[in-house]
Amino acid sequence: MRHPLFQTTKYLILDMDGTVCLGQRMLPGAGEFVQSLRARGIGRLFFSNNSSRSVDQCVRALRAMGFPAAPEDIAISTHVAADYLNERHPGARVFLLGNEHLSAELRQLGLRLVSDKPDLILLGFDTTLDYEKITKAANWLAAGLPYYATHPDVNCPVAGGFLPDTGAMIELFAASAGRRPVVLGKPERPTVDYLCRRLACAPQELCFVGDRLETDIAIGRHGVATALVFTGVTSPAQYEAQGECRAGLAVESLAALSGYL
Ligand SMILES: [Mg+2]
Repeated sequence: MRHPLFQTTKYLILDMDGTVCLGQRMLPGAGEFVQSLRARGIGRLFFSNNSSRSVDQCVRALRAMGFPAAPEDIAISTHVAADYLNERHPGARVFLLGNEHLSAELRQLGLRLVSDKPDLILLGFDTTLDYEKITKAANWLAAGLPYYATHPDVNCPVAGGFLPDTGAMIELFAASAGRRPVVLGKPERPTVDYLCRRLACAPQELCFVGDRLETDIAIGRHGVATALVFTGVTSPAQYEAQGECRAGLAVESLAALSGYL
């Protein structure tokens, strides 16, 4: 008997870090759970906000952990950004703050990336950010160019610590240029719109599963179901201590979801 949360679910949208895997290790039972979904008549897509990685890198990472992933199993906030900007600003000259993986993906998805005279600024997870790029972007932002960010995560957990992520860069530009971006990845509406188009389904047919309240669970405000797992950045005590962000279901791990589907 399915949990009421999943009565209309056609696709699970699975976060990667802290949900399916931790670093370079698959979480116990996660692979088996994902593989069992087809037999239950439920589709799945891995969705990561981390726009510093390419689809190929995600596929290779999953395969190295023993999961037989293919490119069509992966979506990244990069896809949402390309989809949104191609529709709202067709042919626009885009100044990107992003690494070589992000720029290659965006070019392949049809965006026109430039280093001068941009029509808009796109802030991604730029692991190659330098002072020249910061200065150019801050001046264009102060001049009022349209401004977007791939995702809002402040830090990206890695083995032994964390990397300052796009959300931290958003604060830098807020202080310097007095501007905040339109955010496109989880938990924002454009992510739901993109996935509904890609999967040809309605919001109520999606369930987001993830470990981070501000992104994976906050997206529930757009009419999608959400399930929280405690294998990543949120502990049960932290979840109980806050009241404003509630998941449809909170479970120990991805493997523990089995009993509800
Ligand atoms: Mg996560």
